[in-house]
Amino acid sequence: MGLRVLRSQLHSVLVTLWLTLSIASVVMAALTWNRLAHSVDDAVQMSGLNDALDRVFSLVLDAETGQRGFTITGLQDYLEPYEEARRRLPGELNVLAELGRADNSIQPDLAELRVLLDRRLTQLGEVVKTRREQGLSAAAAVISSRRGKRTMDEIRALVGRMRRERLDIFTSNGEQTRRQLNRANVTSLVAGLIGVGAGFFSLYLARVGLEHERRERELAEGKLRAEHHSEQKSAFLANVSHEIRTPMNAILGFTELLVSELKSSRQQRYLLSIRTAAESLLQLINDVLDMSKIEAGVVELNPEPTDPREICEFIQTVFVEQATRKGLTLTCRIGDEVPRVLLLDRTRLRQILVNLVGNAVKFTERGSIRLEVHSEPDREVPGSILLLIEVEDTGVGIARDRLDAIFKPFVQADSRRPQEKQGTGLGLAIVKRLTEMLGGSVVVASVPGQGTTFHLRIPRVELSNQEFAPMEVKEVGVVDFNRLRPATLVVVDDQEMNRQLIADILAGSHHQLFLGADGNAAVELVRQHRPDLVLLDIRMPRLDGRQALAQIRAVPGCELLPVIAVTASSQVEDERELRLQFSGYLRKPFTQRKLYDELAAFLPEVAPAAPVSEPLPPSTTVGHTQDWAELSVELHGLESSEWPVVRDGGAFNEARSFAERIRDLGSQAQCPLLVSYSDTLLLAIEGYDAAALEAELQRFPQVVSTIESRTVGLAAQPITPA
Ligand code: ADP
Repeated sequence: MGLRVLRSQLHSVLVTLWLTLSIASVVMAALTWNRLAHSVDDAVQMSGLNDALDRVFSLVLDAETGQRGFTITGLQDYLEPYEEARRRLPGELNVLAELGRADNSIQPDLAELRVLLDRRLTQLGEVVKTRREQGLSAAAAVISSRRGKRTMDEIRALVGRMRRERLDIFTSNGEQTRRQLNRANVTSLVAGLIGVGAGFFSLYLARVGLEHERRERELAEGKLRAEHHSEQKSAFLANVSHEIRTPMNAILGFTELLVSELKSSRQQRYLLSIRTAAESLLQLINDVLDMSKIEAGVVELNPEPTDPREICEFIQTVFVEQATRKGLTLTCRIGDEVPRVLLLDRTRLRQILVNLVGNAVKFTERGSIRLEVHSEPDREVPGSILLLIEVEDTGVGIARDRLDAIFKPFVQADSRRPQEKQGTGLGLAIVKRLTEMLGGSVVVASVPGQGTTFHLRIPRVELSNQEFAPMEVKEVGVVDFNRLRPATLVVVDDQEMNRQLIADILAGSHHQLFLGADGNAAVELVRQHRPDLVLLDIRMPRLDGRQALAQIRAVPGCELLPVIAVTASSQVEDERELRLQFSGYLRKPFTQRKLYDELAAFLPEVAPAAPVSEPLPPSTTVGHTQDWAELSVELHGLESSEWPVVRDGGAFNEARSFAERIRDLGSQAQCPLLVSYSDTLLLAIEGYDAAALEAELQRFPQVVSTIESRTVGLAAQPITPA
């Protein structure tokens, strides 16, 4: 940009210089021509003047010669030149006067010449008259007086002087003209040279400009191509994600079902490994998608009243258990100056801090982790603040030459370290992009072997004038589909496994199911069975979910039939659009709870307020009374110690460690209810579904008392074999 401006300024200066010199050379040429013209005029005038002087002088000379001949001979013929001189001299004097009209300096000489000529003619006349009347001797006496000779000498001297003076003036004018001609020559030459130079330079500038334009065009084309590739990449990722989430639905769904079926702890361990692997795969897909969504610019911020203290509590809750288990102290401190309610995207800020503190815990083996939040007034935008957040640990640290690289996707500081094996290298890239979306920046400082500190600066954070509203807590309750009024359901999915999953989840319940494999089957089943609700997959061969919905709506009486879109798509736009078109929306992979909640939105609950009695598979109760008694003691301990802390953080991702802990307890005691519950918690964590996580956490005492009631009930009654 600066170069372009400089170039155009240089161009203007050169053009101006060239123009000035050209004009100067034209003016000088005009002046020179004018002077040349004058000088030619002068030459013509001088030559005319000389000719006229010559003529005058020769007329006088001839007259004198004639007078001499007449005086000697007395013959009249000799007086011819004298008569001619008398006749022509006045005319010639007029010619001289005319030629010297513009020249004031000649006027006195002309006047003097006129007088001398008059006098000379008069003298000649006297001699002639004397000769004629008194004879030769008298005439000779007059001539001998030498008056005539003196007058003639004066005339000769005057004419000679007049000629010389004219010649001097002409010569000096000629000198000036020559000098001017030289000056005009030089100016024209310089203007010409600069003109040629300016021309070449303009040519060069034009070429550079063209080159620049070409490069800009190529850049714009490159950008368009990159955007196109980015769109293709996003579409590709969306497809891959869809294709992975679809079987993942079956894997996680059947795992959830199976967990309550398996008896042996070895089998349960295997199952837990399958689930953990599936969950980390899902986490990876979510991260990759998050990243590509951020890069494609489709992530929208949702600023809402946010209390930084609540976020700190949340972080503490999520990580305290994990940190304590590693013997680390985790402190969260908020400066007193930090306002209570900020206008910020709470979910994104949490996501950033979860990543940073999660890394700190992961990469620290001893010592402490400190989260500190401060603020200061933002001078650029009065009324807003600059939010300063620090996450410091005393962990392994990062080598200096890797400090920049770790913010790039899939880059790790040292992939040989065991801690790195647990991750993918996407977390910090997401942190950086999200922080930038919030208008801030993130930098890291680290000393290998001593620890790492991440510094976040988020400027222009506005204060909210609304009250801070804690995240919504959903209605709690364990998954019992029989709590919903008996209903006829049509379930359509082209994947057999996914149809079967829903069928198995609802098996044994009082609901009636009809299964179909594509949109045509959906329409047909709706026509035949007039169901209470339809669960409809979106991507299907032949007739897809959207087309099937249009046909279902066209069936008389089905205009308002609840049709729930069930999709593996993770596209935000898809979700928005599907929520508008369909009665409900369920994203794969889903948990039993999510399915229940979606159905409960359309099917009335038959006993909504009744205390939950978890229907347990008969086999699961056998032989575990003792384990469960110990389990419930342990769970009560958790309920009064860690759970309140976890719960008060109150949102998604809360307490992965807490969930893992109770999952371990559940599988050790072979308590499917607890394992299934921790699954639900972990799924909410994996999906960053804050509302679901809070709701699930609220359920914890209920789950504990259900397990306890089983223990008491079973201990009092004889155990029924399966
Ligand atoms: P992940 O943790 O999944 O590997 P991240 O993008 O979150 O990916 O982090 C990238 C890399 O940065 C990590 O693999 C690790 O090498 C380094 N790193 C991040 N945070 C820390 C930390 N607190 N201490 C030491 N190294 C860290």
